Amino acid sequence: MEKTDYDLVIIGGGPAGLTAGLFAARARLNVVLLEMLMPGGQVATTDWIENYPGFPEGLSGPDLVMKMTEQTKRFGIPIESKEVQAMDLSGPIKKISLDDGSMTAKAIIIATGASPRKLGVPGEDLFYGKGVSFCGTCDAPFYRDQVVAAVGGGDTAVKESIYLTKFAKKVYLIHRRDELRATKILQERALANEKIEMVWDSVVTSINGAPMTVGSVSVKNVKTEETRDLKVDGCFIWVGTTPNTQFLPEAVKTNEWGFIVTDQHCETSIPGVFAAGDVRDTPLRQVVTAVGDGALAAVEAEHYIEDMK
Ligand code: NAP
Repeated sequence: MEKTDYDLVIIGGGPAGLTAGLFAARARLNVVLLEMLMPGGQVATTDWIENYPGFPEGLSGPDLVMKMTEQTKRFGIPIESKEVQAMDLSGPIKKISLDDGSMTAKAIIIATGASPRKLGVPGEDLFYGKGVSFCGTCDAPFYRDQVVAAVGGGDTAVKESIYLTKFAKKVYLIHRRDELRATKILQERALANEKIEMVWDSVVTSINGAPMTVGSVSVKNVKTEETRDLKVDGCFIWVGTTPNTQFLPEAVKTNEWGFIVTDQHCETSIPGVFAAGDVRDTPLRQVVTAVGDGALAAVEAEHYIEDMK
């Protein structure tokens, strides 16, 4: 077989990619990890993580990423800052086009994550991690007996708002239309929940507060043009999630929202191409599931490379 630059190329340096790197390096594969800027992914900008086992007091996202990167690097894997622009997966040798050249590999793990869609309003970036959140599982417990806003009308917004009521004393669910997009059963549960107050036909125009905390959200009724401020301690934004797959060839099967479909071995529709973490079609997008995916994808990639010989 033709020689390749690497046995395995891992694309993405969040928890899934770093864990895949750790396992691949310990399996003594000739492997490289490509990351656009710095390792970490979404976790690097997460203020505090309380649901990753092994850290009973919790730890900051940057701290967790630093520890993961250090552990992966200990086994000698190179981490290079390169942007993947396209991939040719038509033959057994995979070709990757980069911003500054190209490389070939026998197998690839895609671990490029997903990005929550933003509202694009003032205060959204400023208060991110300080009252603005895109993750209920991560941050809801911080709002015990407080008042929060939730934005969106899909399954995520409605399901997570119901979850929020386990902690918060009141949830304003702000939706831009007068009808929810979410499944009927979720709608029924949310509408019957005394802690949820629907704010219909409304969009958030800004998220406001003191330097380190959210104090209110300004909302505008799109029918009456009336604006008002809702006093809240936090604002959760659930208006959709986009997988980071701009470079992905059409041949790789994705679900209707663009997340990569895999089998139980994390293998995609293309043999030798694996997907791990948030970019994958998965029911839970958390650090703890991403690291599991990363480990599995690396071990399966190792088996695939062995079988090629
Ligand atoms: P989604 O279904 O795309 O819903 C996004 C929601 O955000 C919509 O209600 C949309 O309003 C609203 N929205 C979009 N852009 C907005 C903006 N700029 N400002 C204000 N509102 C905006 O996304 P999702 O809820 O994350 O769900 C994604 C997929 O995962 C869905 O197919 C869903 O069924 C699935 N899912 C399933 C479950 C489950 O338990 N089965 C749980 C979570 C997610 P409009 O309605 O007006 O477009």
